[in-house]
Amino acid sequence: MTLTDSTTASQGRADVRVIGHWIDGAERASTSGRTAPVFNPATGSVQAEVALADEAEIAAAIASAEAGYAVWKTYSIARRQQVLFAFRELLNARRGELAALITAEHGKVLSDAAGEIARGLEVVELACGFPSLVKGAFTENASTGIDVYTLKQPLGVVGIISPFNFPAMVPLWFFPVAIAAGNAVVLKPSEKDPSASLWLAALWKEAGLPDGVFTVLQGDKDAVDGLLESSIVQSISFVGSTPIAQYIYETASRTGKRVQALGGAKNHMLVLPDADLDLVADQAVNAGYGAAGERCMAISVVLAVEPVADDLIAKIQERIARLTVGDGAGADGGEPDMGPLITAAHRDKVSSYVDIAEADGGRIVVDGRDCRVDGREDGFFFGPTLIDGLPTTSRAYREEIFGPVLSVVRVSSYDEGLDLINSGQFGNGTAIFTNDGGAARRFQSEVEVGMIGVNVPIPVPVAYHSFGGWKSSLFGDAKAYGVHGFDFFTREKAVTSRWLDPAQHGGINLGFPRND
Ligand code: NAD
Repeated sequence: MTLTDSTTASQGRADVRVIGHWIDGAERASTSGRTAPVFNPATGSVQAEVALADEAEIAAAIASAEAGYAVWKTYSIARRQQVLFAFRELLNARRGELAALITAEHGKVLSDAAGEIARGLEVVELACGFPSLVKGAFTENASTGIDVYTLKQPLGVVGIISPFNFPAMVPLWFFPVAIAAGNAVVLKPSEKDPSASLWLAALWKEAGLPDGVFTVLQGDKDAVDGLLESSIVQSISFVGSTPIAQYIYETASRTGKRVQALGGAKNHMLVLPDADLDLVADQAVNAGYGAAGERCMAISVVLAVEPVADDLIAKIQERIARLTVGDGAGADGGEPDMGPLITAAHRDKVSSYVDIAEADGGRIVVDGRDCRVDGREDGFFFGPTLIDGLPTTSRAYREEIFGPVLSVVRVSSYDEGLDLINSGQFGNGTAIFTNDGGAARRFQSEVEVGMIGVNVPIPVPVAYHSFGGWKSSLFGDAKAYGVHGFDFFTREKAVTSRWLDPAQHGGINLGFPRND
C-alpha cells in the first residue's frame, strides 16, 4: 500500500469526498477500495464517503504511532505540557468549527455539539495539569540505607475506539490523558461521523505534537480487529454498545492488553412522591429527549412512585408539545430542540421498539413514529415519544433503545423502584428526585449503578472524577479520565535503591532480603 495525500488521491471521485486516515502527521487517502457512506442525517443525503482501512493501512497507522512514541517519550514533562496548553488554547478558540462539523455528520443541534466539546475541553484542562497526577512516590530509608521509589511510565502505543454519539467528547475522554502520560494514540472513530477526529488531529499538529503521536485510523470491524490483534498496541479504550464492548474486552484481554470497554445503558430516574414534579418534568424532558436520546446517560425510564404518575405524565406531555424537531444546524431558522437520528436504519430500529412497547400493552401517550420536518422529508427524524404502563417484561423496557423514547413505569414504593434498577443488566447512570436527604443517601448506597444523580438527571462526573458504569456498562476495572485515566495510561515500576557506603558493606548473604 502507498499512502498518498488525500486531495490527490480523491481526484478521481470528484463528486464525493473520501475522508481518509491521519497518519505520519497528514491526512492520507486509502487505497483499500472499501468505503462507507457518511450521511447528513438532517437531509438524508450522502455527503462523503469514509475510508475503511485494510491490513496494510492498519499496519502503517500502528507503525507511525510506534515511531511517534519513540520521539514523544523523550519529551520532558515541561515540553509535553507546552504542547497540551497550546492544544487547549486552539480547541477553545476554534470550538465553533468543530461543533459545525459534528452537527453536519451526527445531526445533534449546534448548542449540544458545543456542549460536548466543552465537556471534552475539561479533560484537556485536567491533562494540562498532569505532572501532579503522574508523579511517583518516594520513601527514604525504607530499610537501612535503602530508598524505595516508583516511576510512572507510559504504556507505548494505545488504541481508542469510539462510538458515533459523541464524535469529539468520547475520544477527548481518553486521548488528552494518554498523550499527557507520554503515550502515542491510534484512534479508530465511528465510521458514521469520522471528520471530528481528523479535525482534532490537524489541531494537534498545529499545537506542536510530533507526527505519529496522534493517528486516526478510519474503518470498521477490520480496523478494530487489527488494533486488538496487534502486538505493538498495548491497551484498548473502547466506548460503544454492550455486545461489542464485551467482544473488545474478551479479545483484547486474550491478546494481553490492558482494556477498558464502556458499554450501553438503560438509565432510570426514580421519582419519590415528595419531589417537585415541575422540576422532575423539566429534567425528564431534558434528559430523555436531549440529543434525540442518543446519549449513554440519557434517561429512558422514569420510575414514578405512586400516586404521582398521572400528574407527572401530564406535565411531561405538556412540555413535549412545545419541543421542536428539525435540522440541528438551524438551517431552517432558529435552532430546534432536537435534531435527527444518526441513520435511517437506527430510526427504524427505534421505531420498532415503540411497536414492541405497544404490542406488549404499553400506552403510547405521545407518538414520534410519524415525524415529518417540512423541507427535510428525507431526514432521519423521530419525534419525542412518551409511553405509559410499559410492562417490565417487554424488550422495550429491558433493552437499550437509544432514541427519544421515554417510558413512565408506575411503582408502589422506593423498594420496588430500587429492585427494578438493580435487576437490569446495565449500571451506567441513574438519578433520584426527592427532597428527602435520607432517602437519597440510602439510594446512593444501595443502587448498583456507577454514576448517580441526586436531583441531577445526567450525572456525568467532572474531569477530575472518573466516568464509568457498573455491570454490562463497563468491562474492565478502569473508568475514563480522572485518576483512573492516568492509572490506566501509565505503568508503574518500583525501584529499591542502595548507594553503598563503603564502610557498611554487608558482604555475602544468601537469605531472603529483610527489612531492618
Ligand atoms: P457500536 O458498538 O456500534 O460501535 C462502537 C465502535 O465499535 C465503532 O467505532 C464501530 O466502528 C465499532 N464496531 C461496531 N461493530 C463492531 C464489531 N462487530 N466489531 C468490532 N468493532 C465494531 O456503538 P455506536 O452505535 O457507535 O454507539 C452507541 C452505543 O454506544 C450505545 O450503546 C451507547 O450506550 C454506547 N455509549 C456508551 C457510553 C458509555 O460511556 N458507557 C458512551 C457513549 C456511547
